[in-house]
Amino acid sequence: MDSVNATPDAPIAELAAAWEEIRTEYYADHDTELVLAAARALAADPGGERAWLWTLGLLMTADYVSLQDASDGTAAAVLDALRATDRALRAGPCGHDAHPYEDGLEFQLEGLAEYLPMLDDAAAAAAYPQRDLWDPPEVWRCPRNVAGYARVAIDILAPGTTDGIPARLSTAEQEEVQDLASVLHGFPAPGVSVTWTLSHYGKALACATGDAERAGLVVIATALSWYIATSPLASPGPLDELSAGLASVPAPRGRPDCGHGAAGHPVLPTVPEDALTAGMCLKSPHARQLLAEHGGRSAGLPLENWLCPAFVAGLARDALTRVRVAREQQFGPRRAGH
Ligand SMILES: [Zn+2]
Ligand SMILES: [Zn+2]
Repeated sequence: MDSVNATPDAPIAELAAAWEEIRTEYYADHDTELVLAAARALAADPGGERAWLWTLGLLMTADYVSLQDASDGTAAAVLDALRATDRALRAGPCGHDAHPYEDGLEFQLEGLAEYLPMLDDAAAAAAYPQRDLWDPPEVWRCPRNVAGYARVAIDILAPGTTDGIPARLSTAEQEEVQDLASVLHGFPAPGVSVTWTLSHYGKALACATGDAERAGLVVIATALSWYIATSPLASPGPLDELSAGLASVPAPRGRPDCGHGAAGHPVLPTVPEDALTAGMCLKSPHARQLLAEHGGRSAGLPLENWLCPAFVAGLARDALTRVRVAREQQFGPRRAGH
């Protein structure tokens, strides 16, 4: 659709369609004016009657805005409007036990473009075939829900600068998990290169500085080592880069016994998506608490156990063995000195 016509006065269905186009193709070029118009409308009346509409529009377009050059001022204008709305509505009147913003964002975002016009149309919402899956319009428009979604959008644009929202992997991190999973399943997604992936994570691991980042990358590299053990490659280079990354993981200092005992270390999920998600959660500063959900059998273990140097070094050692065996099977023994 022609998004230029989607001014703030446009019917909600048109705005929703224009925002949806930006949401689903957030990495592409779009007319930023559409986003700025919503930010201006929200800033003009941050606690107003239509604050819910502009806030949800800014939420839908937040991934796109997060990729724009900071110097063009779009993100700053959007953040100012969202912060004003959070301040205005956070403690607003509310008689609800729970709100949509407290649930998983991904499901809500998938259907929001269709449901958005019904938030302003009680009859349409009541007749909506999927109404059982959606909270009623008045809960969506509740001041505390609007403030909650303003904070969710703020967190996409300026991670870690707000509070009171559920942790989540960013859209880019979720896509990274899907790309990696497509490799592990043996059917790389369009644009995903297996050799680039192995080299990239090997190099990232070799450069890792923080313990949690390193632990997350070791979990991801471990999942990749499962793939390597069963899938031939055209050249050994990517295996060598992954090996170098795994070999850079430091052995634990001091006593070999970390005190966690036999059951104290996580057991990685065997489903690729789950193992990769656990690794991504560890690596992501804002999603680590999600391990409690995505840790599989080990979900109940404290973060400290996932970060245990003995556990991480053990995973890296096992993965390195797997990669070296695969290399030898596919390309023969390495020459001395290499
Ligand atoms: Zn409420
Ligand atoms: Zn330990």
